[in-house]
Amino acid sequence: MDLIVARNREDLVKARGGGEVALVPTMGALHEGHRSLMRLARSRADQVVVSVFVNPLQFGPNEDFSRYPRTFEADLEVCRAEGVDVVFHPSAEDMYRPDRQVSLLAGRMGEIVEGESRPGHFDGVLTVVLKLFNLVQPSVAVFGQKDAQQLALIRRMVADLDVPVEIVGAPTVREHDGLALSSRNRYLSEDDRQVALALSRALRAGEAERRPGAIREAARAVLAAAGPRLDLDYVVLVDPATFTEVGEEHAGEAVLAVAARIGATRLIDNVVLTVNPA
Ligand code: AMP
Repeated sequence: MDLIVARNREDLVKARGGGEVALVPTMGALHEGHRSLMRLARSRADQVVVSVFVNPLQFGPNEDFSRYPRTFEADLEVCRAEGVDVVFHPSAEDMYRPDRQVSLLAGRMGEIVEGESRPGHFDGVLTVVLKLFNLVQPSVAVFGQKDAQQLALIRRMVADLDVPVEIVGAPTVREHDGLALSSRNRYLSEDDRQVALALSRALRAGEAERRPGAIREAARAVLAAAGPRLDLDYVVLVDPATFTEVGEEHAGEAVLAVAARIGATRLIDNVVLTVNPA
């Protein structure tokens, strides 16, 4: 069956097949990372719905909402090639009524690390994701580990609000040289791209250490060596479920997460590692 493009709830109802639905929420400008999520979704349900929506609610006033890449025709081709059943592509007007009042608050975890740099970002993410769940009514939804704090917060939302959707996390897809795929990579010049490689290099340097202090130090040293064109926002080593910093005696999984600006482009990356292994 050919790919169906749905613009609103009525279109989605018409497109429903009767089996289990897996949803892959995206902002479009689709790349291999998104494709890996689609394949995982395909393995988990009868029907795969990909949403393509640049959500104004999750961008701050000085962020890149207006210049965020919009490549809908190419995105449709990617979805077609991946055997996606339905692309949900609503307008902002359809998603947000002008008189809307109610939205979600991400709570404390929404205000730390990435949330500290992007106030309100996770409130906007959770609000749109819950709306997408209500519109598409999936039994499964797939999110990338690339946005580790987002994934943790969505798991939290589903638990705290008893949302009947299974959340599946997918590993980060990288270029051969380590750069994590991102729709924002297309803003990078070749020189910027070389600087950006310091992010994944810093994560690998952290992975080679065992103790929290040494892990943070190794990552920081790589980022400092990248020079002044890399404007570091944060390097943190946090608990995967709460995103609070782990102490020196912590043993088990932790997320080493980094954010930096290169020119006008802000990039994030992370890796899950085992701290103080037995
Ligand atoms: P975005 O379109 O950037 O909002 O991302 C949509 C989904 O794709 C999110 O769940 C992201 O975490 C995921 N994603 C983005 N980049 C990657 C990547 N390099 N590898 C795996 N998943 C990714």
